[in-house]
Amino acid sequence: MVDSITIVGASLAGIRGAEALRKADFGGAISLVGGEAHLPYDRPPLSKQVLAGEWDFDRIQLTSQEKLDELDIELRLNTSATGFDLASRELSITGPDGDHTETVDGLLIACGARARTLPGTDGVAGVHVLRTSDDATAITAAVDAGAQRVVVIGAGFIGAEVAATLRTKGVDVALIESMAYPMARVLREDIGTLCGQVQIDQGVDLRCGVGVERLTTTADQRVASVVLRDGTEIPADLVVVGIGVIPNTEWLEGSGLTIDNGVVCDSTCLAAPGVTAAGDIARWNNVRFDEVMRVEHWENAVDQAGFAARRLLASDADVVDYQPIPWFWSDQYDRKIQMAGRPRATDDAMVVTGSMEERRFAVIFGRDGELSGVFGMNRPRHVMQYRMRIEEGMTWDEAVATADA
Ligand code: FAD
Ligand code: NAP
Repeated sequence: MVDSITIVGASLAGIRGAEALRKADFGGAISLVGGEAHLPYDRPPLSKQVLAGEWDFDRIQLTSQEKLDELDIELRLNTSATGFDLASRELSITGPDGDHTETVDGLLIACGARARTLPGTDGVAGVHVLRTSDDATAITAAVDAGAQRVVVIGAGFIGAEVAATLRTKGVDVALIESMAYPMARVLREDIGTLCGQVQIDQGVDLRCGVGVERLTTTADQRVASVVLRDGTEIPADLVVVGIGVIPNTEWLEGSGLTIDNGVVCDSTCLAAPGVTAAGDIARWNNVRFDEVMRVEHWENAVDQAGFAARRLLASDADVVDYQPIPWFWSDQYDRKIQMAGRPRATDDAMVVTGSMEERRFAVIFGRDGELSGVFGMNRPRHVMQYRMRIEEGMTWDEAVATADA
């Protein structure tokens, strides 16, 4: 049994983990260590309502100082973990009061990921990533100051959402993707291509299958254009880079924990005795899909944080596997895109409602005789329904047979 718990990372997984501990009647001390200056806040609105200028910071806060006091959770902002030693359980910390080490009892690692930057762009004005509220503020300020030609590099989630939000604001947007179609990491070609068509219909200059060669700059080191590998040069006052994330694991190198594209955990989110991980940082074996995965989406951060927090309180005999059905949503223009499960390009597929032509449809996927996933565009009810059916273990034949029901 642990007497006190330290949580590294004071964002979505960190705060939800802390709250889950209190909900589970944990009476010991809880300390939340966060590298950012702000109270924990939600990231999904950053590329949507915040960038659109509709919501301010107050609206995206995940907690308040009053609530933290009520739950007796100590929050240390502007404070980062810089090292950990599993054998001695010593955590090295740097913060406003300098550096020190402290001995931790239970440890929940929830330090997420940071945005990957484009090599060679350090110090170039007008080039941004979007991960933090400060990033969103900087991009919004650039647009408000008159940036009219935006090049978005990477048509993954960030790229697609930033393109949609800025285009809706009337800005000229070019969207560059090195893969053959948008969101290729998670979507099949026909669906990803359709998402690209939605961007093109709104006037986005979408260029897929071509990488970025270099950026050109003005004499005062401000971005002037983006040069693609095919030689095309696109003028730019503002560049937003959305080319994936890097898990924040550097401080754990040499700690005794296994680090491999995240913090490696067992199927119960345990990284070592008394150490669990949750959210974007955690890599674990999801036995439902027999796949070691790291999920970079909101709902998993919430669910896994609760699970990993309770795991620290559980005896090994009581432990069950963490085996969620991964799930995400993305808002782009007036389209709500949702996907649940773990579909692969080679899975069977069947449209169960609507059609891709009308851009309002749901398609289900099957693999090895099982229902493996569902994708929906403006079909939330169907996505929820099939998500439950995946949970219930429905077979592919049953799913096909009941598709009209
Ligand atoms: P993070 O949110 O990355 O938080 C980790 C925290 O730990 C950060 O505050 C970081 O500063 C801190 N930290 C890092 N290292 C240290 C250290 N050594 N010491 C102390 N603190 C440290 N998901 C969806 O499902 N749907 C969406 O529509 C969606 N939209 C998104 C839009 C944007 C712009 C972004 C950036 C993400 C979006 N996501 C979305 C993804 C979702 O926000 C993430 O999956 C979620 O934030 C992960 O939470 P986390 O707490 O695990 O990690
Ligand atoms: P992402 O979804 O991994 O997409 C990055 C895309 O950029 C990939 O398609 C990648 O292709 C491409 N790319 C990489 N290098 C490139 C280059 N040099 N030029 C052009 N394209 C390049 O990551 P992201 O969009 O940056 O999002 C960051 C994080 O935020 C992710 O964790 C994401 O899940 C999260 N997020 C989620 C949502 C949501 O769930 N709705 C919304 C916003 C953000 P390769 O695969 O070939 O590298």
